[in-house]
Amino acid sequence: ATPMALMVGTGRGAQLGILIKGPEVLESTRRIDTIVLDKTGTVTTGTMALAQVVAADGEDEAEVLRLAGALENASEHPIAKAIAAGAAAHGALPVPEDFANLEGLGVHGIVDGHAVLVGRPSLLEEWSQPLGEDLSQAMKEARDLGRTAVAVGWDGRARGVLAVSDTVKPTSAEAVRSFRELGLTPILLTGDDGTVARAVAEDVGITEVIAEVLPKDKVDVIERLQAEGRVVAMVGDGVNDAAALARADLGLSMGTGTDVAIEASDLTLVRGDLRSAADAVRLARRTLTTIK
Ligand code: ADP
Ligand code: MG
Repeated sequence: ATPMALMVGTGRGAQLGILIKGPEVLESTRRIDTIVLDKTGTVTTGTMALAQVVAADGEDEAEVLRLAGALENASEHPIAKAIAAGAAAHGALPVPEDFANLEGLGVHGIVDGHAVLVGRPSLLEEWSQPLGEDLSQAMKEARDLGRTAVAVGWDGRARGVLAVSDTVKPTSAEAVRSFRELGLTPILLTGDDGTVARAVAEDVGITEVIAEVLPKDKVDVIERLQAEGRVVAMVGDGVNDAAALARADLGLSMGTGTDVAIEASDLTLVRGDLRSAADAVRLARRTLTTIK
């Protein structure tokens, strides 16, 4: 490939809403056979809304929402923003006295003198606040509806479940069809629960799902696929995707995502539209064959 022809390729990329870090990026794009897609914010809009509040027997729904909302107000996670906004709509929220983010698991802190914990049920279990029959059932029902559900506990007891809903981007299914036409196998990768992930995957036509992956383990998934001899592209938007984006043979970030993800990637989809990823692969292959 001559540098001149590659420059034509990167120029066309800009017109398509693709920002390419360097001309050499196009070379690796040609050999890609697998495309790993982060769920939240990549395949879905990542703009979540509070959909449901459930209190355990003898607990108060309003209090579950108020304490969880106050704590989540200190977090930037899409789930946290939805819960905080939903709670703020019902009244002023107290400011947590102490706050800690447990990456990929949840949050905890002190609100109004209560030690509050919000996150995966497994996190509450670890903190000796297992969900009772009623909350486990609520959790399952929310997930069957494709919602992301988190558990709320304080002062040593699980007290409620909150469900948030996300929506699949209208362009994601078309993008997945294009990936297949280009001979790429799509895989959905997420920290979220398997039931929710499979519902999203089915919506957009993906059959391979890798769920409940901790942020620090996403990079291991990429390495495992590479060890199988696959040449892997990864598309993501979050802080938790950065290491995987850097490790992938081709890292693609959403222009609507975090700076950390954009910096770790080789290529940025400016409009946050997954179809641009297919355009990028098509462009790279065309650019490189014309100049052979
Ligand atoms: P994804 O891979 O879809 O971007 P994350 O790795 O960020 O998801 O989060 C994985 C899971 O951890 C969430 O589905 C949720 O159960 C839990 N979690 C993470 N952050 C929070 C938070 N701030 N509040 C509640 N739950 C959280
Ligand atoms: Mg994400």
